[in-house]
Amino acid sequence: MPELPEVETVRAQLSSKIRGKKIKSAQKFHPRTMNPRTEHNLDAVIGAQIIEVRRRGKYMWFELNRPFALVAHLGMSGQFYVQPVKDPRQKHLRGLFELKTATSSPISLRFLDQRTFGWLSVEQLHDGIPTSALHIAPDQFDSRFNAQAVIENYRRRRIQIKTALLNQEIMSGVGNIYADEALWKAKIKPTKLTNKLSEKELQKILAATKAVMSAALKAGGTSFDTQYRNVNGESGYFERRLRVYGRDGLACVRCRTKIKKIAFANRHSHFCPKCQR
Ligand SMILES: [Zn+2]
Repeated sequence: MPELPEVETVRAQLSSKIRGKKIKSAQKFHPRTMNPRTEHNLDAVIGAQIIEVRRRGKYMWFELNRPFALVAHLGMSGQFYVQPVKDPRQKHLRGLFELKTATSSPISLRFLDQRTFGWLSVEQLHDGIPTSALHIAPDQFDSRFNAQAVIENYRRRRIQIKTALLNQEIMSGVGNIYADEALWKAKIKPTKLTNKLSEKELQKILAATKAVMSAALKAGGTSFDTQYRNVNGESGYFERRLRVYGRDGLACVRCRTKIKKIAFANRHSHFCPKCQR
């Protein structure tokens, strides 16, 4: 599942490739392409100019010269490609936009999604944020992020630290993989309750989530499965640097104890039973 570093990698690449271009046509090819909560039909974006590509947590949107934006969520397997209009249509093509430029020949923006948990929508902006992303808190790379408020929020609760890190309404951007990596780095057990953590420990955890995601961003994201490809069809390289995620049964690189995998929600947590307390 794409997490913040992957979505940010896609956003930055899309921005450099399509910013300033005008949407000439918009088509959808699957009944689930559009989120049922869309506020306008997809046709509303035709004729609009793409001002910028923005993101909050894992929500991405194309800011237009309109009061509404084209919003996209990659879900489990969503991908965007920018390629020549004449290229054959891919099997999992869900959305197709023809973009025109003043100087070069038209190009196509394509939304592909094999597992169809991703979606598009056209939504009003409220202070620059689309309706569906209003409940999402800023991430650690956002100028509006307030670390102290997040720490205080965690300390008021009595939930597992991993559950807290994944709650996108307190702090966004941290998903399953980077939560495991950050908690390993901070030497904190994923099941530890937030009210039992000191302010210092929480500061250490937030420093770890930011460090892990920054490293992944630099590597162009993690291609934890074959679904994730950036806009150029390349996979990220960060998986080579994962220290704990997916390493169950292997030796912890810090203390050589076997990494453990336990059930967490409908997924798993990976941790070192010796150095994470
Ligand atoms: Zn260890």
